[in-house]
Order: sequence, then structure tokens, then C-alpha cells
Amino acid sequence: MSRIIYVNGHYRRYGEAGVHVEDRGLQFADSVYEVIEIYNTQLIDPTRHLDRLERSMNELSISPPMSRSALSHIIEQTVRRNRVHNGIVYLQVTRGTAPRDFPINGKDLSPTLICSARATSRSARDSIAAKGISVVSVPDIRWGRCDIKTVMLLPAVLAKSSAHQAGASEAWLVDTDGWITEGASSNAWILNQDYELQTRSLSHALLPGITRQTLIDVAGKTGILVVERAFNAKQAYTAKEAFNTSASATIMPVVRIDEQSIGSGTPGPITLKLRQAFHHHAERIPASARPAKY
Ligand code: PMP
Repeated sequence: MSRIIYVNGHYRRYGEAGVHVEDRGLQFADSVYEVIEIYNTQLIDPTRHLDRLERSMNELSISPPMSRSALSHIIEQTVRRNRVHNGIVYLQVTRGTAPRDFPINGKDLSPTLICSARATSRSARDSIAAKGISVVSVPDIRWGRCDIKTVMLLPAVLAKSSAHQAGASEAWLVDTDGWITEGASSNAWILNQDYELQTRSLSHALLPGITRQTLIDVAGKTGILVVERAFNAKQAYTAKEAFNTSASATIMPVVRIDEQSIGSGTPGPITLKLRQAFHHHAERIPASARPAKY
């Protein structure tokens, strides 16, 4: 079955879809995006993801391409047409197409909307989680508004590539004061010496991860204390447990940071418990039937 992608009003085969060469997403990374997990044919946390997409557009004065209910319909159609049971929905909204010129002012552009859906293997992901992953710390060289989910991802591409070269799966980004901001495509967490779940507090320095937020809710319900406070690599090396959160991998145990094994060197029991509990607590909406709610 060939994959189908929605671009600006049309569902097309991949090889036949495209955007204009002067789309500002292509020219300037003037574009925002979202990734939503599909789990057992359900969208996970769609309300929070679409809220964040609206916030990203709003922060950059990108016009919403359509209403939320119309967008939800496109998501549903894209998932259905690609017959995805487990995987991800990818949404991208660019500012639109105009002759290449830096300033935004005075341009009343029609935004470009891209929506795709891709199957991923749950069992492959579960077997990675059963072993845990390694991360390496690298300097955070990104811009000052990492709270906006833009496609300006070159620093993340470079960070992940150096992690892969070092035999790790993710990079933890370290700011100029030595604090870990987040992963290249995930939020970073430790279970600290006091058995508190610790992750950096929100600011312009990091993405307000949806999985991060839902996990804070899950921890509250399961009686685990969360502290939103930055930690450094040294504190991470001596953590009881560590993990990353992201929509595409939910809660991914981290068993090695740089040269240090974390805890027993295997996924920690609290991390695994949270991973187990996550989908049960998250918002789940059937991907193939649009509810009134969103
Ligand atoms: N931080 C960064 C830099 C990311 O790219 C991502 C994943 N898109 C996350 C955190 C995790 O966010 P979410 O839980 O919403 O996927």
C-alpha cells in the first residue's frame, strides 16, 4: 500500500505530493509542527497537542490554516487512509509561500498544512525500552525560543548524529551554565537521590513536552513526587533512574549517560511502572471517529 499524505487540500501519494519551492518553511524554517502518538488506533493526548500547535502558531503570528474541527477531520482521514494502528501523526504548518524575503511584516499569506501518518512497531519500541537506551551530553546550541515547536531542527540533527556516532540513541543538551535543558527530541528526567522525579522547569529554553505534562499528572495519581528543577550531568550520573519522554517513544528508560551506568544499569522499576501506567492515564480518542470534544 502506498502512503498517502495530505498537503494543502489534497490527499496524494508521497511521490506526487509537494510544496512550492518558495514556501517559507523550506526557505526559512518559518514553520511549526506536532507529532501525536497513535496507540491501538487511538490518538494520545490530541487536545494538548492541538493546543500546543495553536500556541506555536500564535507565538509566531502564523495564521491557523483552518478550524480545529476541520484539522481533526484531516488527522482522522490521514490515519484512516494510511491504516495506521500504532504509529504517529505528523502535522506541519508553514507560514506559506512568498518571494524569498526575510521580513514577515505586511505579508498576508495562506499557510501550508501538511499531515502524514506512519506506522511504527510497538514491539520494536518495547524491546528497546526493555533494555533501556544510552544518551550522551552535548552543548545546547539552539536559539532562545525552544518553547515553540518549530522545524528549525538542525541543532537537534547534529546532536542526535553525534549521539549515534558515540553509540547512543539520544543527546541530552547542556546549557552554558552546565544544566541539562532536555533531549534533542525528548524531555530529560531523573529519579534523584531523594526518590523525586526531577525534570527542568518550563521556560523559553525547552519544549513544554506533552508527554512530560501527562507524566506529571500520572506521577501525581500514583503518589510519586515531581520536582521541576534543572539538574546537571554530574547529578544525572548518580541518579537512581533516568528516562526520556516524547510522544513517539512515551517513557524511554535511560541506562547510560556518557560513560556512566545509571542505577543498576538496567531500566529502573519506577520508570517501568510509569511507562506501564502512561497510556491508561493519557487522553485517548479513537483516531477513526472524530469526537465532539476536539
Ligand atoms: N523536547 C524536544 C526538543 C522535542 O523535539 C520533543 C519531541 N518533539 C520533546 C521535548 C517531547 O515532546 P512531546 O512529549 O510533546 O513529544
